[in-house]
Amino acid sequence: MRSLFEARAAKIAALIVEPLVQCAAGMAMHDASYIAGLRALCDQYGVHLITDEIAVGCGRTGTFFACEQAGIWPDFLCLSKGISGGYLPLSIVLSRDEIFDAFYHDDTARGFLHSHSYTGNPLACRAALATLDLFASDNVLAANAHKSAKLRSALAPLEEHAHVRNLRQCGTIFAFDAVIENAQDARTFSRRFFENALQRELLLRPIATTVYLMPPYILDDEELALLASRTRETFDATLAEVH
Ligand SMILES: *Cc1c(COP(=O)(O)O)cnc(C)c1O
Repeated sequence: MRSLFEARAAKIAALIVEPLVQCAAGMAMHDASYIAGLRALCDQYGVHLITDEIAVGCGRTGTFFACEQAGIWPDFLCLSKGISGGYLPLSIVLSRDEIFDAFYHDDTARGFLHSHSYTGNPLACRAALATLDLFASDNVLAANAHKSAKLRSALAPLEEHAHVRNLRQCGTIFAFDAVIENAQDARTFSRRFFENALQRELLLRPIATTVYLMPPYILDDEELALLASRTRETFDATLAEVH
């Protein structure tokens, strides 16, 4: 990233990153110091930093914002999904006052008047406020830390599994890579795993051969144990089909 900035920073307006866990890339996890390093680079080269916390925000990685773990703030922060507890669609872009002010003007010819039809939808905002109330009243972050420790120990036997590589965790995101030698089997793995999981009342959708769990925060200890044991059963059942 530094060499990219050195070569092209004058032509880069902003850097977008999904902090701590790059989810769609296969639950690729990086150290928080990487985000702190990106912030320093953006500051040095005058590039805005945008963090997409749609998946990793709202407590998913252990802190409310993933960026908190890097001790930095971005210039723009995107939220959705967890902010309304998944009950209603809402997306939010948080920004700094000086950026907001740059777009704001009393003269309509100079103001940036772009918006979306349902911007600030009151029902969706109410769902988000109710979610934030729960974070405040129920100490969701502490409860999640307890739950992720439970799930981690219930998944631990996978570490010894001959066909499991890189069992990893960030907050309540868990992932591992399935070792499937045959290329054709690797291509059908996700579909087979999904179907085997459904038969066990789990909705799990691996990204290629990366199996991941992002459980809802409401699961209790018993449900977490069930999730772990059935994930292991699903994996073995899927391997049995391809080996
Ligand atoms: C789901 C998701 C999106 C897409 O958000 P939409 O509001 O559906 O456009 C973008 N980024 C990340 C990281 C996501 O998880």
